[in-house]
Amino acid sequence: MADKFFLEVVTPQKAVVSEEIQSISAPGSEGEFCALKGHTTFLTSLKIGGIRYKDASGNERMLFVSGGFAEVLPDKVTILAESAERSEDIDLSRAKEAQVRAEKRLSDKAADIDLVRAEAALQRAVYRIRVAGSR
Ligand code: ATP
Repeated sequence: MADKFFLEVVTPQKAVVSEEIQSISAPGSEGEFCALKGHTTFLTSLKIGGIRYKDASGNERMLFVSGGFAEVLPDKVTILAESAERSEDIDLSRAKEAQVRAEKRLSDKAADIDLVRAEAALQRAVYRIRVAGSR
């Protein structure tokens, strides 16, 4: 069995994960990264996407994360996220409504639309739906 290390995922609202894990992969802004126990220390910002990890018993778990930072240390990964939810905590109908809203905003092409903001909202909705689909 793989050596265990610690994962902590926190948002401004709550602690989402605080447990021992065997491995993790996450959407770093420079690309997807994977870590096992003993990984070299590094710090990266995160993109909107899915975090996949193996818990202490070897079960695959998925989280949604909407940006933030990850600090990888040899025995601990800390993720400070703008928002994050475990796949089982994602409200799928809320995410689908958010997707419809964001798509409408983008297709209306109103002059006063904040394009970057609307595209980020759409991306959050799409990834939440994807992560919820993995449960
Ligand atoms: P919405 O438009 O539905 O609020 P959003 O992408 O703007 O979505 P965020 O700003 O990313 O929402 O998150 C605000 C808070 O709501 C966070 O605490 C986040 O965890 C929670 N949240 C947002 N969408 C969902 C969802 N579909 N299921 C569960 N929690 C959600």
